[in-house]
Amino acid sequence: MAADAAATPAQLAKGALRRLALAHQEPTPENYARAYAEEAGQPPPADARHAGAVWAALIERVMRGLERGARQWTPARKKESLQRVLDSSASDAQRLQQRLQSLMQAWEADLPVEGESAMAATPATPVARAADGAWPEVTAALQGVVQAALPPADPRAGQLADELARLADKLAQTGPEPATVQALADACERARRLLGHRHRLFDDIGRLCTELSQGLTELSEDASWARGQCESLQASLADGVNSRSVRAATELLHETRLRQQRVQAQRSAASQALKDLIQRLLGELGELGEHTGRFGESVGRHAEAIARADTLESLAGVVRTLVDESHAVQSLVRGTQDRLQQDHARAGALESRVRELEGELRRLSDEVSTDMLTQVANRRGLQQAFEAEVARAGRAEGDAALLAVGLIDIDNFKKLNDSLGHAAGDQALKSLAAGVRDRLRPVDTVARFGGEEFVVLLPATPADEAQLALTRLQRALSASLFMHDGREVLVTFSAGVTAWRPGEALETALERADEALYEAKRTGKNRTCLA
Ligand code: GH3
Ligand code: MG
Ligand code: MG
Repeated sequence: MAADAAATPAQLAKGALRRLALAHQEPTPENYARAYAEEAGQPPPADARHAGAVWAALIERVMRGLERGARQWTPARKKESLQRVLDSSASDAQRLQQRLQSLMQAWEADLPVEGESAMAATPATPVARAADGAWPEVTAALQGVVQAALPPADPRAGQLADELARLADKLAQTGPEPATVQALADACERARRLLGHRHRLFDDIGRLCTELSQGLTELSEDASWARGQCESLQASLADGVNSRSVRAATELLHETRLRQQRVQAQRSAASQALKDLIQRLLGELGELGEHTGRFGESVGRHAEAIARADTLESLAGVVRTLVDESHAVQSLVRGTQDRLQQDHARAGALESRVRELEGELRRLSDEVSTDMLTQVANRRGLQQAFEAEVARAGRAEGDAALLAVGLIDIDNFKKLNDSLGHAAGDQALKSLAAGVRDRLRPVDTVARFGGEEFVVLLPATPADEAQLALTRLQRALSASLFMHDGREVLVTFSAGVTAWRPGEALETALERADEALYEAKRTGKNRTCLA
């Protein structure tokens, strides 16, 4: 091949190897470097510079070889063989170079150790020499960028980074073989999906922070509520920040804030009623005081009149007036007492209503396992069903021990709420929950996970069959519109499905299903993807 301005290092490397083959020359580093320079239209490398470059490449190989894990070549064996080569050939630079190259080939191929002769006899592969060109730097740099972008705390990201590093090494050593290129493309696609999902996670965290600050500012005067909210948030995030837990916390805060606003409104109405009662009580006491005061005065006056009374008739008149007045005061006191008792009872009832309202939030989320709106299981019910299914799977064998986990999210639900109103949204949630419940098997679990998200557990079902089942469900629901205000409304959903892995928590399986759900949303909605 002639030198060409647009030739890539890989093309130059191939051309150099072809030159060596035609000239029946061995692909030693010196011969290869010369052929490469000829192919690139450059003057042959100066000997000293060339020798330096060969040694630099060799040292880099040794370093890479020491870092790389291998089955045959344990770190101890590597060190031992390296020491042997250094001990036996340190006095002769050319021999040292040759023996080190042979040793590197043995390490890189991970061939069993069969004495030094086997190492020395391993032929240099031509493409391995080509890899000493620009390949390793380029692939290592790209792989480094991807590795830096991958989240370090995620074990799958760690595996992916290792795999990318392994493939970059392989590419550097064996060149762009179709299988390696395909494997690298697959790993890149997985990295792209993982990174896409991470970006969504950060969006979710941003929304969570907004929701948090709004909730806490609006309701900060109620210390107990703020504490409760923070506890729920901590519980939700206890398993680590993943997109599911962050969104669950956001929804929890949003919902709690709305409920708390309602409870607060009722509470302030009750407090106002109590204040009114106290006001009335003070009025009554004032009135009573006036009456008893006047009665006291008239008793004094009557006592004087009695003292002065000289006839029975005049005494009887005074006593009659006194008795009448005392009756009037007595009935006034009795009436006030009755009213006070009634007011006291009302105050007690109002107080217990306030306490009842305050306890409502906790009861709603903690004690009930059914979602009030849709009448399917709520998170608590889902957790109970999941634990029962895990126990059942543990006792079963074969397909019966399988459990498919699906995550369903209504498409464009915000738009439906905005255009038809919240009540229509609620009706759509009920209709969808009923539609899913009716069309799945009785052994399957349907649960409202929050907002407009549902989780399904399909026991004894391989994940691909679960994907088919949910796709059938989507087709069936697309055909059945629900009615609102005499109008037909179409509600569709997207879903992600995964196979539960024995021993893993529901959250872990849901995190995987969520990635597949995201893929379903990304690729057009109203479809089911598999993770
Ligand atoms: P996508 O297709 O990507 O899922 O878009 P979307 O609009 O469905 O998704 P998004 O998560 O942005 O909107 C969900 C909306 O669901 C926002 C919230 O107001 C609404 N929502 C959550 N819970 C309820 C509820 O109980 N009743 C009603 N009517 N709406 C709810
Ligand atoms: Mg949603
Ligand atoms: Mg949605």
